[in-house]
Amino acid sequence: MLYRSMPSVRNSLLAAILLISMSMPAIADPDPAHEDSPLGSFIATKLTPDENIFHVSAKRLFGTQKTPAHLQAQAIGTYALGCLAGAQQLPITGDNWQVMRLSRNRNWGTPQIVNFIERIAAEAKAKAGWNGFLVGDMAQPRGGPMLSGHASHQIGLDADIWFTPMPDHVLSSAERENFAPLEMVKDHATLNAETWSESRDKLIQTVAQDPQVARIFVHPPIKKELCRWSGGKGAWLAKVRPLFGHTFHFHVRLKCPEGMGACKDQWEPHPDDGTGCGKELAYWYSDAPWKVIKRDPNAPKPKPRPPLTLAGLPALCRAVVAAP
Ligand SMILES: [Zn+2]
Repeated sequence: MLYRSMPSVRNSLLAAILLISMSMPAIADPDPAHEDSPLGSFIATKLTPDENIFHVSAKRLFGTQKTPAHLQAQAIGTYALGCLAGAQQLPITGDNWQVMRLSRNRNWGTPQIVNFIERIAAEAKAKAGWNGFLVGDMAQPRGGPMLSGHASHQIGLDADIWFTPMPDHVLSSAERENFAPLEMVKDHATLNAETWSESRDKLIQTVAQDPQVARIFVHPPIKKELCRWSGGKGAWLAKVRPLFGHTFHFHVRLKCPEGMGACKDQWEPHPDDGTGCGKELAYWYSDAPWKVIKRDPNAPKPKPRPPLTLAGLPALCRAVVAAP
């Protein structure tokens, strides 16, 4: 009924999306026109009659999704511009992990990353003596851009893992919401020697050596510490990349899984010195990455960029939004 009462312009947009979805291989027949479908109900409940689904910000479109798209699992697009079909939810409590901040509903990913976390958490316990993972943000139920935080985490192959080990009891949902992580750095140049430990060096080494892992992001002093600890030796160090904002967690990124043709890998890091402990790290210890750009107060204000919409995402993402 909702659908029938919608203006015809939106009906034709829905029909267009339905056609796109139906012409796609390996993605089963979503029916966005059905009033129960997320897109149908999104249009009916969240858009005003004069709003066009292709002009709505992609953040809003994906950030308000509560359930995964019931399609074959696929990471679509790039880590920072894409979406996720057929997502799996990481169970909130496992043998060697617990999911934090449940209210965010970001413990979704490809089946590959869900399996990976289960496997690598057990391996980290065996090899690094790490008691278990506290898992932060992965992806939204349908991936895509988020209303808050993260440029990436869009295709179900990224996960944030805390540097705080899992406590010995099952956390309540209130604890998962409020428990504060340990900070590993004092500032952007200095490691926090009171919280860092060798088990954390071994933890990152274990994860980085895994062949499924493409990159790990950590705050610069953590990379510096790993370089010191390892004596600047080990090909795994090349995968560990300094980046702002990774002070209490590391961010692990998996390579595109085999057979996911719509997933686009990033270039593989090949620092000159084989580790990134030289020139690359020195860059993060220069002023360049931390400089605040001062704008001429008399210059005309730059026009705000129009928001990213569904039209700016890979075409397959339309079916991901539309699917039941
Ligand atoms: Zn992250």
